[in-house]
Amino acid sequence: MVEKTLALVKPDGVEANHVGEILDMYEKAGLKIVALKMIKVNKEFARQHYIDLKDKPFYQELVDFISRSPLVAMILEGEDAVNTVRGVNGATDPSEAAEGTVRYKYGHGKTDNTVHGSDSVEHAKREISMWFPEFLDSYLDD
Ligand code: UDP
Ligand code: MG
Repeated sequence: MVEKTLALVKPDGVEANHVGEILDMYEKAGLKIVALKMIKVNKEFARQHYIDLKDKPFYQELVDFISRSPLVAMILEGEDAVNTVRGVNGATDPSEAAEGTVRYKYGHGKTDNTVHGSDSVEHAKREISMWFPEFLDSYLDD
């Protein structure tokens, strides 16, 4: 199914100049970049993005990390986009990520793991409407 998903190059990936290569990896995986921006989010926005993790012991560290410097947010579209992005990204913990994935190559630790990808079409819709409110609901339903 052709679907849309939300991906982030997190602050550590931007700081280390990996934006271009990561975008290239998504494109080479067959995905189309249909929206793209660089933004430094504040802590409240970061808390909302990761609201499902609010009871985890690492929540505050995660919020501080994701809001520490600019990141790159994008909507990617394509066949099976949610899983395709997560495949390119690799496992959450870089030490467990498969060779060739973004997190294997560039992830530092369990928190600063370079990229984000929505984990379902439903969550992708929620995240896209948060990160790209300029896109209309009708666009998301395409
Ligand atoms: N995270 C963390 N410590 C952990 C697990 C996750 O700091 O023990 C961070 C990490 O940045 C991860 C994010 O929280 O990407 C969201 O966690 P999730 O389990 O949803 O992993 P993801 O879907 O990003 O692979
Ligand atoms: Mg997740």
